[in-house]
Amino acid sequence: MNLKIYNSLSGEKENFKPIHENNVGMYVCGPTVYSNVHLGNVRTFMSFDFIYRTLLFLGYKVRYVRNITDAGHLTDDGDVDNDRFVKQSRLEKLEPMEIVQKYTVDFHKVLDTFNLLPPTIEPTATGHILEQIELTQKLINSGFAYESNGSVYFDVLEYNKRGLNYGELSRRNIEELFANTRDLDGQHEKKNPQDFALWKAASPAHIMRWNSPWGEGFPGWHLECTAMSTKYLGEKFDIHGGGMDLKFPHHECEVAQGKACNGTEPVNYWMHANMLTMNGQRMSKSTGNYILPMELVSGNNDFFEKPFHPSIVRFNFLQAHYRSVLDISNEAMVASEKGFQRLMEALNLVSSFKFQASGSSSFDLASWKSKCLEALCDDFNSPILISHLFEAVNFIFKLKDGKETITSEDLEELKKLMHDFVFEVLGLKPIEENNNEKLDQTLQVLIELRNQARKSKNFELSDQIRDRLLAEGIELKDGRDGTTYSIN
Ligand code: AMP
Ligand code: ZN
Repeated sequence: MNLKIYNSLSGEKENFKPIHENNVGMYVCGPTVYSNVHLGNVRTFMSFDFIYRTLLFLGYKVRYVRNITDAGHLTDDGDVDNDRFVKQSRLEKLEPMEIVQKYTVDFHKVLDTFNLLPPTIEPTATGHILEQIELTQKLINSGFAYESNGSVYFDVLEYNKRGLNYGELSRRNIEELFANTRDLDGQHEKKNPQDFALWKAASPAHIMRWNSPWGEGFPGWHLECTAMSTKYLGEKFDIHGGGMDLKFPHHECEVAQGKACNGTEPVNYWMHANMLTMNGQRMSKSTGNYILPMELVSGNNDFFEKPFHPSIVRFNFLQAHYRSVLDISNEAMVASEKGFQRLMEALNLVSSFKFQASGSSSFDLASWKSKCLEALCDDFNSPILISHLFEAVNFIFKLKDGKETITSEDLEELKKLMHDFVFEVLGLKPIEENNNEKLDQTLQVLIELRNQARKSKNFELSDQIRDRLLAEGIELKDGRDGTTYSIN
């Protein structure tokens, strides 16, 4: 089946043809690790996780690169002293690299909670300073960049003079861009407001700094992705992804850097995932309209009436196509929870079915399978795939009620396909019984029995309960507010 991908560069769905047959090189812009990722960030990474899983399921060998931005991403006002890491490190009284470590660990933990597969390479900006300096030098040498006061800027006008068309990805007209740009970032240093930094000179207060031919400084954000994608995927690769909001200027600058360096479009298929909104507004830290992923899972928030398991959040996200805006709400989550439970019930049922008498069935397995594959191949259409899965769910319930039949061969295939689509491709996980809760309940019973023994002066028994628990690594502590325990 032919995979079709919506390419932001052409604005059309195109047949996917990888550069090397059966192999895919995919780069996705990763997080800027100066604070916790919010749920909106998770949606974008999950969209690409689903795309990655689908490519693997379709039989491609995928080199999946997702970077960690751990330097060089300035705050929105563009002030050099407002490096996000430096600013946060002052706030938290930590070293900038401690900030990086803290939020990288958090990022991995969050993505693991939502069952995202790790990329095959996860490079960091600070680990590729040399490559970024080399690219900057190359751009200076070829006349696409200029040095000014220890910083280096990409010369957008020069790029356009050579017929290279800055604005092609975001479909922006260069004259319009020049007219509408407020010059905040290095206003006295740039030839034109639209020029963007490849390298920034560090002010004396700037802690994250590296030596370069232009003095001490740090790399520009756009350059890191070009440096790392080129290093690991080549000058031209198959897929580049990121959130919609990165299309301009970040990805537009990546296109310009790639074309200026290598004389070729760096990416064959540009993919942009749409935003998560809450209360109808884009989720974003800067406006305060956000929820942290773990707050949704723990129920510790003001927006949702109860906690939601990560698999239900995942199911909710994948019920929307990656190119559609998704508004998260309590009602939608509750509906997703019901749908998810029915799906899991059907999966449990189908895996327990042993033998069914063959006979006529209204369910055409072969055409159902090809409809599911078609949905996947039609620009990774997860909501359509899910609607087909529910046709199978209804059929499975009818099988249970004896209203349908299936041959044992078809039953085996249905089991396998349902398993693959639900667990491998959608990446859903069954909700396990909460064993911690059970353990807590059991210990409370033991504590109560020990208290009763003490009350009736049966110290032999009460000591025995305490000592045997201790031998198992569970220590009881008697305090003013009663007995608590700790597990070692
Ligand atoms: P950042 O760490 O700010 O670079 O963001 C990481 C990723 O999350 C980028 O691909 C952004 O496009 C994406 N992103 C930011 N806000 C949202 C949102 N509200 N919904 C979906 N994706 C988002
Ligand atoms: Zn990037």
